[in-house]
Amino acid sequence: MKLLVIEDELKLAHYLRKGLQAEGFVVDLAHNGIDGLHLAMESEYDLIVLDSLLPGIDGLGLLAALRRSKRTPVIMLTARVKVEDRVHGLQSGADDYIVKPFAFSELVARIRALLRRTHSAQGPEPETMLSAADLEVDLVSRKATRKGQRVALSVQEFVLLCLLLRRQGNVLSRSEIAEQVWGINFDDNTNVIDAAIRRLRSKIDVPFDRPLIHSVRGIGYVLETRDP
Ligand code: CA
Repeated sequence: MKLLVIEDELKLAHYLRKGLQAEGFVVDLAHNGIDGLHLAMESEYDLIVLDSLLPGIDGLGLLAALRRSKRTPVIMLTARVKVEDRVHGLQSGADDYIVKPFAFSELVARIRALLRRTHSAQGPEPETMLSAADLEVDLVSRKATRKGQRVALSVQEFVLLCLLLRRQGNVLSRSEIAEQVWGINFDDNTNVIDAAIRRLRSKIDVPFDRPLIHSVRGIGYVLETRDP
């Protein structure tokens, strides 16, 4: 499940991304209305979390522009608590709204509910499992197993594994991993990525006979099932 979070408060935006990744979502961030609208139009998202007060184009303006061509589900974050503003937001095409400040768990519950609603209307069930060979990750319970054995992972290892599984068969560069898992722009700090991969391998590969994570010299890593 891929989400776009459009929020100009950097701290909140990064906090949301980290939390949502830990819930198993893939998250893109935009920090103003113009970038947000561009991403929302150019890419396919399962859901957009949209702040109402944004530099560039504000939330309602962005939503109005988006709704001319796309039905992507939108949850508005709003500081405005007046009833008429809520009504206005829903009339402009938001599917739900949540008033700031909110509990993170509340946002996650709303996101899941809206995704369920959207997907039951559209047909296919939302993705709940990722797998490769005998490795399985349950996105709902956040449990990983290999050969049926439970593998305990830290939040970061879990996010990293989900990324590798979703993109299995494709080589991920270290900078892409850094950006997706840590939300950082990559400098020359390859050690962080390599150490994280090493820890993940020690849990999901080393105890088993067939490695799934492979190094690609000079580029990065790929998760794939290779013939023994
Ligand atoms: Ca704002």
